[in-house]
Parts: sequence; structure tokens; C-alpha cells
Amino acid sequence: MDNRSGKGLSFVRRIYLPRIIGLGIGLISVAAAVAPLSPPAWAWALLLFNGLLWPHVAYHWALRSAEPYRAEQRNLLLDSLMGGFWTAAMHFNPLPAVTVLSMMTMNNVAAGGKRLIARGALAQLAGMLLASLALGPGLQLQASPLQVYACLPMLTLYPLALGWVCYRLAIKLAEHKRRLSALTLTDSLTGLLNHGAWKDLLLLRFQACQQQRQPAVIALIDIDHFKTINDTFGHVVGDCVLRQLSEELRRNLREGDQAGRYGGDEFCVILPDTREEQACQAMERLRERVASYRNPQLPHLRISLSIGLSAHDGNLESAEHWLEQADKALYSAKRRGRDQVNFARGEATALKLAYPD
Ligand code: GH3
Ligand code: MG
Repeated sequence: MDNRSGKGLSFVRRIYLPRIIGLGIGLISVAAAVAPLSPPAWAWALLLFNGLLWPHVAYHWALRSAEPYRAEQRNLLLDSLMGGFWTAAMHFNPLPAVTVLSMMTMNNVAAGGKRLIARGALAQLAGMLLASLALGPGLQLQASPLQVYACLPMLTLYPLALGWVCYRLAIKLAEHKRRLSALTLTDSLTGLLNHGAWKDLLLLRFQACQQQRQPAVIALIDIDHFKTINDTFGHVVGDCVLRQLSEELRRNLREGDQAGRYGGDEFCVILPDTREEQACQAMERLRERVASYRNPQLPHLRISLSIGLSAHDGNLESAEHWLEQADKALYSAKRRGRDQVNFARGEATALKLAYPD
């Protein structure tokens, strides 16, 4: 991988095509404006180089540079310098001069904001001075019809090309933003929702249950003796167990169920529109599937789960209270010997449930 990728390679690539188009069609308007002034041969050669070869030279120069971003900023200033040069070379013929200068300024705004506008303007002035010294000063305030037509491709095609590049960039940024915000909601090991994202959903579900009197159940799932699994088989196997459990959760839950990793070896699930019995059956199935998991390479590995469930009811004061009930049910399950599903009905009536398949 190119270790300069963070230093502006994509910036250099993004500017390549607009520069080819801009300078290629700019050549037409400048040529039409300078031709009647009979410039020397070297000026024609410079114009052809600037319009046709410079975009490729600039691109490869910046790509090979140790700091492509800085190199591209320099190239943009050279563009401005040459823009100023051709403006003076055409003796400030109003339409082509304004076309060249404004397109270049638009380029500088898009590529570097205020700083590049200011530096670009200075470079344009320097270019004008150079051309006045090399070709002699002059003023030509009348544009012929041919010179007007020669500006039309630049006036129409270049804004289109630059607008397209900016549009593509905006789409790319929106995509990056979407991916980043998805990452901030996801647990990196298991790909499930992380603690914060799941708790936000819990709050939303709690409010929906309160307002619409819908049934819903939450589950807290903890792996039994996970420390021993880590100590006996190593943390890599421990991580595989966590991933395996998250896979089982994905496979066993319905589309609308929301599973997360609460932290460490503890997982959490919201089961919307679900009654106690259905939730118990679903979690019992999960417990049994995980308990029957065997790995031929680790024949002694056994995984068991303790699961605490709590159904929403109108007496719950808050989402935190709901979670607390599930937590109590989970720790009851642990106290009662682990490897079981336990429903919160107040500590006194906690029940061990074992459903057949
Ligand atoms: P209990 O039956 O009471 O739940 O016992 P336990 O051993 O599972 O105890 P506890 O839940 O306190 O232990 C959780 C362990 O999970 C402790 C920690 O080292 C381990 N752990 C936390 N996060 C990770 C992880 O991302 N990967 C691995 N491999 N282990 C983790
Ligand atoms: Mg545990």
C-alpha cells in the first residue's frame, strides 16, 4: 500500500481530469485572443505546452512527490501564474481574460478555499507582470465575434466538469459519514450493536411500549465461567466464543429483534411485540444450541449461558428500571446454578424455565 495515501494522492487524482479539460479548452479561447497580436514562436510553443502537456506533467510531478498535496497546491499556483500570463499576453481582451481568470479562481476556491484564492490572485498578478515584460504591455478592449465564440466551450464545459467533480466528492463524503456513524454504533469484535447504541434503542422501545401499550421483552445473556474459558483455552478462543454467540444470536432472532454486546461476555436483546412465553422459548432454544456446540479441535470446550428476561409492564418507571429487572433475573440465574433462563417477576418469584424444543 502507498504510505503517502493520506498526503493528498486522491486530491491530485481528483484535479487531473478537470485540469485536462480546463486547460485544453482554455487553449482555444487564449489562442483566438493572442493570434491577432502575432506573438513569437516561443509563446505559441508555451501555449501548446500549457494547454496540452502541462496537465500530465503536473499530475505525474505531484504523484511522484513526497508530499503530493503540497505539490498539487504548487501546481495550482503555477496554473494561476500561467492564467495571469495569458491574460496579459492577450492584452486584457475582456471576455477571454475574464473567462480564464474567473475559471482559475473557481478552481482555487474549490481546491483550497480563501487561502488559495489570495495566493492564486498574487500568482496571477505575477504572471501578468512576466508577460508584460516578455511580450510587451498592451491593451485590447474589443473582442471579435470569433474570440467570443472561442470562449463558449470554456464557459460551458469547464463549470460542468468542476461541478461534476464536486458532486462526486459530496457523494463520497456522505458515504464516508454513513460508514463512520455505523462504526460508532457497532461493537468491533462481534459486529452487533455496542453498549451505547443498544441502550438508545432500549430507551426508544421503552417509550413506544409506554405510549402504545405494546408488549416487549428484554434479555441479558452472560456466558458462564467465561474467565475459565479464557484461562484454559486462551483469549483467541475466548474471542471466537464471543463471535460464535453473536452469530447464534443473529441466526436465531427475528428481523425486528435488536441484539447488542452489553460489554465483556454479556449480550443484550430487545424482543419487540413479544410475550413472556415466546421470549422464554426463543432464549431457551438459544441456550440449548450454544450448550450443544462442539469443536473437534477443542473437545473439552463447553459453553453455557445464563439468561435473564424482563417483560415490559406499566409499573416500570424507566428504561433503566426495566434493565435492572433483567439484570436481577440474570444474577438469580447465576445464583441458582447457571445454564438457565430466568424471568424477572420480582426476586421472590424468579422462575427457572426449561422448555422442550
Ligand atoms: P460468570 O459465570 O459469573 O459470568 O463468570 P465469568 O468467568 O464469566 O465472569 P465474568 O463475567 O466476570 O468474566 C468476564 C470475563 O470476560 C473477564 C474478561 O477477562 C473477559 N473478557 C471481557 N471482554 C473480553 C473480550 O473481548 N475477549 C475475551 N477473550 N475476553 C473478554
Ligand atoms: Mg460471564
